[in-house]
Amino acid sequence: MANDSKKFQDIISHCKEYGFIFPSSEIYDGLQAVYDYGQWGSELKKNIKDYWWKSMTQLQENIVGIDAAIFMHPTTWKASGHVDNFNDPMIDNKDSKKRYRVDHLIEAHAEQMVANNRQDEADGLIAEMEKLLAKDDFPGLKKLIETYNIKCGISGTSNWTDVRQFNLMFSTEFGSSSSSEEGDNIVYLRPETAQGIFVNFLNVQKTGRMKIPFGIAQIGKAFRNEIVARQFIFRMREFEQMEMQFFIRPGTQKEWYEHWKQERLKWHLSLGTDSKNYRFHDHIKLAHYADAACDIEFDFPIGFKELEGIHSRTDFDLKNHQEFSKKKMQYFDNDIDPATGKAYGNYIPFVIETSIGLDRMFLSVISNAYEEQDLSTPEKQDSRVVLKLPPRLAPIKMAVLPLVKKDGLPEIARQIIDDCKSHFHCFFEEKDTIGKRYRRMDAIGTPFCVTVDQQTKEDSTVTIRHRDSMQQERIAIADLKRIVLEAISGTTTNTSNFLITN
Ligand code: ATP
Repeated sequence: MANDSKKFQDIISHCKEYGFIFPSSEIYDGLQAVYDYGQWGSELKKNIKDYWWKSMTQLQENIVGIDAAIFMHPTTWKASGHVDNFNDPMIDNKDSKKRYRVDHLIEAHAEQMVANNRQDEADGLIAEMEKLLAKDDFPGLKKLIETYNIKCGISGTSNWTDVRQFNLMFSTEFGSSSSSEEGDNIVYLRPETAQGIFVNFLNVQKTGRMKIPFGIAQIGKAFRNEIVARQFIFRMREFEQMEMQFFIRPGTQKEWYEHWKQERLKWHLSLGTDSKNYRFHDHIKLAHYADAACDIEFDFPIGFKELEGIHSRTDFDLKNHQEFSKKKMQYFDNDIDPATGKAYGNYIPFVIETSIGLDRMFLSVISNAYEEQDLSTPEKQDSRVVLKLPPRLAPIKMAVLPLVKKDGLPEIARQIIDDCKSHFHCFFEEKDTIGKRYRRMDAIGTPFCVTVDQQTKEDSTVTIRHRDSMQQERIAIADLKRIVLEAISGTTTNTSNFLITN
C-alpha cells in the first residue's frame, strides 16, 4: 500500500462524510491533531475495544482489567522517568518557524531518496540516524541534516536551529493555586496508561490473589504534546491506548517477550487481514526502561508504520516506584526453583508490555476495509465505495429495508428489528430507492441488508444481500438472527461464506 496519499485523503473524506470521524470543535476551525468520533466511528471504535478487551481478559485465565484515573500523583512521572526522559529531539527552521521531530525530518528525506531510486543511500542515512539517536548525539544529528542538505518543506531552506529536547507531557494545575507553593500543584495528563497499572500492581495482585505470571490490562486516554501531530488519527495529541502489563519471574523475559510478540500478531490476523500487511520492526534505540522492544508495523496508506509496541520493560517501573514511594513492590513466589530446591522467594517482577493505540488500530481497520469499486457494465456506469469491515467490528450488523413505504412492509421490517436488536445493532431505513440504500450501507460497512417485499407477507421470507459479494438470496425470516450472529462471532470474515445453498 506504500504511500498512497490519494487513498489516504479519500479515507479521511469518507470518515467525515459518513459520520466516522470529525475534526474536533470544527465550527471553530478544529484543534490540531484532536478528533471526535461520530455516530458510526464511535460504534466501530467500541467494537475494536471490546474485541481487544475480551481477547486480553475474558479469554485469558491470568489477565484481569482495571480502569485507573487519568490524573496521577506527580511523583509517578518522576519515578517512571517521563519528567526527565520523555523527550523527542526536535529542530526548528529559522525561516518558516516550523518545528520538526528530527527523526521524522530525516525519515521523510530518506523516503524521497527511495522514491528517486537511491535505496542504498537512504538505508545508510537511516542507519546513521539510528546510531546518533541511540547516543543522544544532538550535534551529530544536526551535522547529518546539514550533510544531506535536508531542507524545510515550507521555506525550502536549510537554515536550522540546534537540535533540542522537547518534553511531550501536558501539564495542568490541580485544585486552587493560591493554597500551594508555586509548582506544587502541577499535575500531568498521563502520556501512557501503563503507570496506572504499575502503581496498582500490588492492589490487584493481593485482592485478586494473582499468581505470577499474570497480567493487568487497561484501556484509556493518553495525552502527548506531539511536536508534529499530523497524518489524521495516526498521531494525535489526545488518543486512546489498550495496554497490558504481564508480570513475570526475572530471567524469563526472553521467552515471554517472544510469546507476546506472536500472540499479538495472531490477534491482528484473527481479524482476517492479510499477513503481508504486518511486519515486526526491532528497536535499535531502546527506551529508558526496556531491554528489548519491537513494533508490529502495519502497511497503512502512508506506508509501513508502528501500530503496536511490545516491550520488555525489565523491573524498571516497579523498582523505581518502590524507590520513590518507599513502598515495597515485591512479590513472594512460593514455587520451587529446581536449581536450588527452595522457593523463589521475594522479588520485584519483570514486565512484558503490549501497547496498542486504539485510534491507530481504527485507522488500520478502516484502511484495510476501504475499497472503491468500478461496477460499470457496457450498458451502465456504476461504482461504489465499500468498507469490507470484519462483521464483528461493523457499526451496524443488519439493515432492514422495506421495499416500499406502504402495504404493511415497514411494520414487518420493524418487527424483524424488534426481534434482533437486543442481539446486535440493526438499522431501519425506508427512504430512497433500494439501490441507494444498499450503497449507503456499503459505505459504512454493514455486512447484511435485508429487504422486505410483497412476497414476505405471503411466505415470511426476505431477501438478504451480502455486502462483499453483493449476492442476494431468499431466506426465511426465522434464519436471519442465526446467520448474522454466526458472522459476528467470527466463524468467517467474509460475509459471502454465509450464502445458504439449500
Ligand atoms: P511513535 O514512535 O509513533 O511516536 P511510540 O513508540 O512513542 O510511537 P508508544 O509509546 O510505544 O509509541 O505507545 C504505544 C502505542 O500507542 C503506539 O504503538 C501507538 O499505536 C499509540 N500511540 C503513541 N503515540 C500516539 C499518538 N500520538 N497518537 C495516536 N496513537 C499513538
